[in-house]
Amino acid sequence: MAETPNIVSSIIKCKCPKCREGDLFVNKNAYQYQNFLSVNDNCPKCNQDFQIEAGFYLGAMFVNYALTIAIIVAVFVAFVVFNIYSLVPFLITAGIVLFVTSPVALRVSRSIWIAMSVKYKPNAISDYATQNNSK
Ligand SMILES: [Zn+2]
Repeated sequence: MAETPNIVSSIIKCKCPKCREGDLFVNKNAYQYQNFLSVNDNCPKCNQDFQIEAGFYLGAMFVNYALTIAIIVAVFVAFVVFNIYSLVPFLITAGIVLFVTSPVALRVSRSIWIAMSVKYKPNAISDYATQNNSK
């Protein structure tokens, strides 16, 4: 392994918070609407449990709320920068932007949520491999 994977990029890429290499989601494409929110049961690389408890990802709802507000504020700032001060175009634009970004925002909010409770372990993959070989 060359360098430590960055926490921000691993959250955005929806990687396992423990090893930062395994995929969190079953489906890699956020815009493939079937199962786009299905989380793997375990990390394919380090075997970290992704189903920590029943209803674990309900908490991601709060993270998604914050992301949604951030997106709306970003659209508002863009309108202010371009000197557009009318409500209806703003609401239409914000609605379109939220519709387009919501699949990604939902996945990233789950990724942020699990990253808040699972600690990064640099040797997680090799530890799991040696544990498997010793059995
Ligand atoms: Zn992992």
